[in-house]
Amino acid sequence: EVRVRFAPSPTGKLHLGGLRTALFNFLFARKHGGAFILRVEDTDVARTIPGCAEKFEEILDGFGLHRDESPLIGGEYGPYVQTQRKGLYGEAAQRLIDSGHAYRCFCTSERLEILRKNAFRKQEIPRYDNRCRSLQKEESNARERDGQPYVVRFKFNREIVKFNDVVFGENIQTADEGDFVIIKSDGLPTYHFANVVDDRFMKISHVIRGAEWIPSCPKHLKLYDAFEWEYPTFLHLPLITKDGHKKLSKRDNSAFVEYYTQEKGFLPLAILNYLLRNGSGLRDHKTNYCYSLEEMIEKFDENTIGTRDFMTDKNSLEKYGRLAFKKATPDFLLNAIVDHVRAKLPHVGEDLLTSEYIERVISFLTNNEETFSCLSEISSGDFHFFFGRPENGEKLLTKYDVVTVTRVLDNVISLPHLTPAGIKGVAAAMDISAPDCFLIVRCALIDSFTGPPVGELFTFFTREECITRMNCVRQ
Ligand code: GLU
Repeated sequence: EVRVRFAPSPTGKLHLGGLRTALFNFLFARKHGGAFILRVEDTDVARTIPGCAEKFEEILDGFGLHRDESPLIGGEYGPYVQTQRKGLYGEAAQRLIDSGHAYRCFCTSERLEILRKNAFRKQEIPRYDNRCRSLQKEESNARERDGQPYVVRFKFNREIVKFNDVVFGENIQTADEGDFVIIKSDGLPTYHFANVVDDRFMKISHVIRGAEWIPSCPKHLKLYDAFEWEYPTFLHLPLITKDGHKKLSKRDNSAFVEYYTQEKGFLPLAILNYLLRNGSGLRDHKTNYCYSLEEMIEKFDENTIGTRDFMTDKNSLEKYGRLAFKKATPDFLLNAIVDHVRAKLPHVGEDLLTSEYIERVISFLTNNEETFSCLSEISSGDFHFFFGRPENGEKLLTKYDVVTVTRVLDNVISLPHLTPAGIKGVAAAMDISAPDCFLIVRCALIDSFTGPPVGELFTFFTREECITRMNCVRQ
């Protein structure tokens, strides 16, 4: 039975890489008729942000990545939050202590600090010197009974570990650390330990996660060996890099899903298609096409996932933005636009958020589909004029003098019909060039010299609205 999990730590905003991991887990589960599970890895209590896990579930829902089991949904293998599973890790660690694979370590933080400093001085990688390995059982038990603080460490010998990865093939890693901690002094497990124990107890068949976890595999595999558990199948996804060289940094806004959804307002399918593009998991991948989630499931094939870094690429994202926009149903777009405008432009009145007006906006944008890729274009970009009038003539007056502007607009306002032909007539009568006349009118209407043809704007806005705009610029 196929069971896969997305196992984020609730320590901040969802990373683009996290969303990609969730997507691949989801597609894999659906493709193989298995279960997709969300498990919250919150054992680093100091870094946990309240509400973060719930937010992750909400984001996944927004992308249509529905879970079969999760903290909110529940399931047979819960709880799905690691801090609620504390007892289980304690028991598992005790098993390893009993079988001689792990031991209590009573070394003080001062002693560990000295080890670290010494290593530093010798320019060596700091590693625990395994001193407490040699504590006798009786002494260890006695010190525990005395209430002395301790951690549990796993015996980790230096050796070469080989394992197979569906994406990266045979992997050879050297285990080269001291005995590592599996239970911290607060009684909670470390990531490595909880991860392995939970994957086993939750019957995870395939571990699908970012390639940055490959170096951790020796620890995980050695833990499986100590428990005499079978390994899950590993499937690591290529690193995500910015501009082809740097790792996508957490300091960079565009590292987070929120940037794409909230700030830029790309449609969910645009973002998912972007994450799945070129050589990353779809059979006969069409490059100029936006796949629906159903189509992705149908075409998904883990054997086609490449190992090349995934490079962020604005042009590609915008391309999928346009394709997703074309593919979306009017209802979906209507809601997306209203939500976006409410969030970004709270001063916009309900009179502009009626379905009638938004539907006209959508049909206007559809005719301009080549340039429209994300919703921020209507809140701060080329199409901001749908929801905002020019506040003053500042921009217009950077290019034209106030006398010309006033005369042109007066003449246009007094035309019986607002049409391009009418503007040409005004230009001829005033002896200024028609293109200048068009530029003045466009900038008066939408506060930008570039944008849709003035004729289209005349059709989109009512005559009254056009006149209001031209007047408001003149004051
Ligand atoms: N909690 C880890 C993370 O935040 C999970 C890694 C894994 O999937 O094993 O990415």
